[in-house]
Amino acid sequence: MNLVRDRRALVALVAALGLAFLASHVFSWTEPKAATAAGPGIRVRLLGEPKLFTIDGSIEPMAEVGRELRPPIEVRTQSNGLLLIDTTGPVVLDQDKLRLSWSGRATLRYDSNGTRRETSQIGALQVAKRGDKLLLILHLDFELYVTGVVAAEVGGRFPLEALKAQAVAARGYALSAQRRRRDRSWDVRASPADQAFVAPSDEPAVVRAVRATTGLYLSWQGLPLRSYYHSTCGGRTRDGRECFGDVPAAPFASQYCNACRTAPRFRWQRTLDHAGLRTLCATGNTVSLQPKTRSARGDWRTFGASGGGTTTEHYIRRLMRLAQLPSPWIDHVEPTASGVTIFGHGFGHGVGLCQYGAAARARSGWNHRRILQHYYPGAELSTLRAAQ
Ligand SMILES: [Zn+2]
Repeated sequence: MNLVRDRRALVALVAALGLAFLASHVFSWTEPKAATAAGPGIRVRLLGEPKLFTIDGSIEPMAEVGRELRPPIEVRTQSNGLLLIDTTGPVVLDQDKLRLSWSGRATLRYDSNGTRRETSQIGALQVAKRGDKLLLILHLDFELYVTGVVAAEVGGRFPLEALKAQAVAARGYALSAQRRRRDRSWDVRASPADQAFVAPSDEPAVVRAVRATTGLYLSWQGLPLRSYYHSTCGGRTRDGRECFGDVPAAPFASQYCNACRTAPRFRWQRTLDHAGLRTLCATGNTVSLQPKTRSARGDWRTFGASGGGTTTEHYIRRLMRLAQLPSPWIDHVEPTASGVTIFGHGFGHGVGLCQYGAAARARSGWNHRRILQHYYPGAELSTLRAAQ
């Protein structure tokens, strides 16, 4: 009996059955310990804080319930704790926290801020009551989390080497967040405030990229590098220290990148009408916007809005919100009959890896290591010991 050959055949069979099978057999869910930099799990704060949610799947028994649970289970807040309702009936729990574990996948459903969310999750759910709302923290395998980030950030349409670069960057960002938030109940938010994430992905290209780079992350001077990235730099990445004060300078030095020139927002224009302008400058019909301080690349930091003899100074965030600008890198502003048109470059903060640039470079033959070295010069590739 050729054990090696038989094992290869088994692996091929498992691959053919898809990630749902892989997730429960190869990645083998293990109970995450308190998250550590080299730990096997990660705690993801899911988007939105609903008043109630339902979960359906092979939910494991909970000692505090005192009877078998029959999913789907609805969980909601009540004045003195939590209320569980399954197909058998309600269970009142005099506690503000709850942990739901399951095998395989479970379907999680809830409404939040007018958005209906339905996802298929792997792992365990830590639920915490916050007033009349529920904080949902998904505990899951670190590599499964990375599949979800790669899928949500760029998706399986990107070329493989760009997906690999994204996976490596996502790990470094997450590991850095775990170190920073080890005293909190969660490591990362499932949103662009940290990294986009909806659920573990079974997109074949995404799974392939994550598995090919398992455990690989960027480090700087022996620590995980908070590997910032963005959609489209617009021609040059932004110096990281100008944007985020707590990152090392060298790996976030501004880099030339014309590779993203075919991206939808390589160049953009937005209009701001007179009503919007009046919120920037109280008087005057002829309003002009002028940068007061700019980054080396050209990002506006503060600007003056003048009209009718008065000038008010604002931070760029105000203008970005009012005119829904894709980035703070503004080329020029032109007055129009109805207000102003703002011309700018890129989408996102511009620091670190440019996702559209990485995709174009991958199409031109660059591998993920070369892409990462371009956008994070001098950073080292390290491997998580727990993932080896
Ligand atoms: Zn770029």
